[in-house]
Amino acid sequence: MMVLLFGPPGVGKGTQANLLSARYKSTKFSIGDMLRDEVASKSELGTKIAQYLNNGALVPDDIISAFARQFIEKHKADDILLDGFPRNMNQAQNLISDLNRLSLSLKVAIEMHLNETEIIKRLISRRYCPQCNKIYNYVTNPPRQKQVCDICKTTLIKRSDDNEKLIRKRLAVYEKETQPLVGFYKAHCIYERAEATGSQEEVFKKLSNIIDAYTN
Ligand code: AMP
Repeated sequence: MMVLLFGPPGVGKGTQANLLSARYKSTKFSIGDMLRDEVASKSELGTKIAQYLNNGALVPDDIISAFARQFIEKHKADDILLDGFPRNMNQAQNLISDLNRLSLSLKVAIEMHLNETEIIKRLISRRYCPQCNKIYNYVTNPPRQKQVCDICKTTLIKRSDDNEKLIRKRLAVYEKETQPLVGFYKAHCIYERAEATGSQEEVFKKLSNIIDAYTN
């Protein structure tokens, strides 16, 4: 089964994608993590991608859809959880035609929603582990030891795009390019919306309930 999580930056997609993929033993496609890994590798492609990440802009569709196509082909026998992809209509259409070609389909798209003030508050205090990609929040979900990942003990870092100017830009890109995909999902799969307020556990429960309703 293929499940897609979308929502504005800071809504908690990455955290929930980690929890959900562990719970449902699904293979997670987190394109943001892949892009940051490519940048960290200092490859030619990574240098190109960095220009977009550092501006809060979307990376070109041909690069994104190539990552997605390769991933889905490799994991076509698995349950897949899509996190952060597609982000615009062109990517969504590419996804559906790739799935059709492989006789796969998208089961459910879940939109996570949160108000802008809360999003900005969450993103300013977000840190992540560059090694295992676990996400922390210094206010609501701090690591046991200051600035150190609980799991792999790597020093936590702040994402370079988690500053107020770029957060506002990323939110504007989301409103213009990604949120309007709701109509597309309603036409192609099951669409559900979940309020992402409350603790990680509470949000996880809401999302799991939605997924459980469509499995079996
Ligand atoms: P995220 O980790 O999901 O917050 O994504 C971080 C950044 O990666 C975004 O601001 C974009 O620059 C880029 N990015 C992530 N997903 C996509 C996508 N599907 N299409 C284009 N750019 C993306």
